[in-house]
Amino acid sequence: MSNQEKVHDLTLTRILGKYPEIPVGGPTLLVSAGVHGNEPSGVIALKKVFNKLEKEKPQIKGQIIGVCGNLRALKEQVRLVDRDLNRICTPDNVSSIEMGEELDFHEAKEFQELLKVIEEIEENPLSTRLFFMDLHTTSSPTVPYISVNKGEECYNFAMKFPLPVAKGIEKYIPGHFDHYLTLLGHVGFTVEAGQHEAPESVEYHEAMVLLGLVNTGLIKEKELNDFQVYFDKLKETFGGDEGYEVVHRHHIEVGDDFKMEPGYSNFKEVKKGELLAYSNDEPVYSTMDGRIFLPLYQSQGSDGFFIVR
Ligand SMILES: [Zn+2]
Repeated sequence: MSNQEKVHDLTLTRILGKYPEIPVGGPTLLVSAGVHGNEPSGVIALKKVFNKLEKEKPQIKGQIIGVCGNLRALKEQVRLVDRDLNRICTPDNVSSIEMGEELDFHEAKEFQELLKVIEEIEENPLSTRLFFMDLHTTSSPTVPYISVNKGEECYNFAMKFPLPVAKGIEKYIPGHFDHYLTLLGHVGFTVEAGQHEAPESVEYHEAMVLLGLVNTGLIKEKELNDFQVYFDKLKETFGGDEGYEVVHRHHIEVGDDFKMEPGYSNFKEVKKGELLAYSNDEPVYSTMDGRIFLPLYQSQGSDGFFIVR
């Protein structure tokens, strides 16, 4: 059964789960999934996590809340309805929403409902701080990784997880849900777990949420069955260093014919002078040693590739 079919069998509501149902004093971990409707993995993983918590009933100091991002897109099994929810989470759009302006695209409604959930947490006197994780997957296979906005606290939090961490992408692609949460002063990141339909993506998402419960201090490691198993599962996916920063972007102009050379995937090492792509039949060489990030193999997009170091 595909991830898409699995999620179609679930009853989808904005709130996917809360544990415990009535919050106790402490931090809140807000985990969002399906901000892109064609990425069911995080939703399935969250359901599994809540089932595990309900069954094992570990002691918890705070609360975990799971939410659906683009609820309608998830139900319709499409990436987006009108616009990419993960590009419209900007302070400008928030001002419009707060002023009661009708934005003419569906995702504004989804964003508005997510803002309500965030506000409720912020106003809850029992919630001492808000940590978040936004669960995503990618069209091409990738090692699981964390994408984090610049900012020491988020980066330090991300580095507690045994995955490669790429920071600084918000400079090039603003309007992420994740970016907006960091603008509000909350601490967290985006997790890209692998290909949309890969069964492993669900496992990695599940492992990240469980590790998140421990790394935010909500649950003690010993309270969580199989903590080490989940940790090792993630650790085994990548052998290299963990901290990277985006240092270069290859921009594609409208109308350019861009072709990435075959065989590049996230975090593959590249050398200065290496042939990476062709743009309008002109070779594009790497201007530095580093690792490739988000190589473009689809026909659409304005980012050819990034280099992280
Ligand atoms: Zn996504």
